[in-house]
Amino acid sequence: MKRRVGGLETEYGLVCVRADGQRALEPEAAARELFRPVVAMGRSSNVFLRNAARLYLDVGSHPEYATAECDDWWDLVAQDRAGERIFADYAHQANEALAARGEDARIHLLKNNVDSAGNSFGSHENYLVDRRGEFTRLPQHLLPFLITRQMITGAGGVVRDDDGARFVFSRRSDHMWEAVSSATTRTRPIINTRDEPHGDATRFRRLHVIVGDSTMSEVSTWLRFATTDLVLRLIESGRTLQDLRLADPIAAIRAVSRDLTGRAPVALADGRTMTALEIQHRCLDQVRAVADDADAEVLATWERALSDVETGDLSWAATHLDWAIKQRLLTTTAERRGLTLDSAQIQRLDLAYHDIDPEHGLFYALQRRGGAPSVLDEDRIDRARTTAPATTRAHLRGQVVTAAQDLGVDHVVDWTTMRLARAGAMPVQVLDPFATASEAVDALLAEIRATA
Ligand code: ATP
Ligand code: MG
Ligand code: MG
Repeated sequence: MKRRVGGLETEYGLVCVRADGQRALEPEAAARELFRPVVAMGRSSNVFLRNAARLYLDVGSHPEYATAECDDWWDLVAQDRAGERIFADYAHQANEALAARGEDARIHLLKNNVDSAGNSFGSHENYLVDRRGEFTRLPQHLLPFLITRQMITGAGGVVRDDDGARFVFSRRSDHMWEAVSSATTRTRPIINTRDEPHGDATRFRRLHVIVGDSTMSEVSTWLRFATTDLVLRLIESGRTLQDLRLADPIAAIRAVSRDLTGRAPVALADGRTMTALEIQHRCLDQVRAVADDADAEVLATWERALSDVETGDLSWAATHLDWAIKQRLLTTTAERRGLTLDSAQIQRLDLAYHDIDPEHGLFYALQRRGGAPSVLDEDRIDRARTTAPATTRAHLRGQVVTAAQDLGVDHVVDWTTMRLARAGAMPVQVLDPFATASEAVDALLAEIRATA
């Protein structure tokens, strides 16, 4: 697919603490506080927004924001950031309300993947793929890439092994238990093959990648989608590809995460070994065959990221990629204060890095000092809060939600279907994720205006 639709689901960690750092509200109660404005707006904790994104509270009290369908990966980063800002505002409102009631409690939303109890939650990438393509061939070629891409796109973190605490590319790697599964995402597969295309099932599938870390850095998030898109394009091109299948994907993902040099041998299914760097380079070299001028930035940035791992000179990575920014932050702080990487103070620093509060979050403090990338200006992020991507069907959903909200008309919306909430209302379906115009949607908009 030359042009591809994708979306990013981000589950947030939620903590509510007192001034002394002890837990104040249980997550369920904190989530209720957080979702008050959402429920007031849509009478539900599962709503679609003006920007065509979905905002909801899933089981386990992890607030989730799923971006609308995007076909440009910087758009996607802006839409994802917009979700952060929306949630940061809700947290702010909830904290004001708690303070007004005299409660010693403050809600923090963390865009990370492992909570203090060690439970992992998700950042799901969705990619539209062609139904006619060989979907069965897809995981085989995609897995080696996904397992090794953490050296570029990981969020970084500290794990404790028998021989002590160490910094890794991705803590989520320790929470993956299967390579491919069609069962629920709870079995933690790297790729989930549940067939739910949110579109015309005769033409499309939706690839659901579960392995990614939530990323604070815009460059990390962008690279996640831009590189994976290219690898998918390569696989879809039908070219004969080198077989990089791994002997044991789950053992490999844990090993690659722990090897910051990228040079430890990884066993391939055919008995050979390759290093993670070699596998990434092979992917990068192979995608050049399907890349064009528009992909120059992706290729150059991907190459730069690999080169930093290869040379060990992280001067670029440490101001652009989450894992390297965080590694510098945690290791220099630990050294300066004589702490171990698994000390409580360093753990708190790790959490603070993922705090989405634009004023108090550590990532944002680094960004203000030039220690983390800031590609999208705040105006673009601000626009993305209320404006859907213009080049996918999200544009149509955004129009419907905006009109219905402005005119106070009850409506029911999901990824493919929209209708008025009254009995007998005819649902309008948009099964083509690329559609940006539809007579049926125009008629629905007229109906909304007439109802109001
Ligand atoms: P859940 O997370 O509740 O199990 P789900 O995986 O269907 O359900 P949602 O949270 O509803 O996910 O998010 C769906 C994501 O898929 C959104 O980011 C959306 O933009 C994206 N998406 C929707 N339609 C398509 C499509 N046809 N192809 C690729 N991505 C899509
Ligand atoms: Mg979801
Ligand atoms: Mg999902």
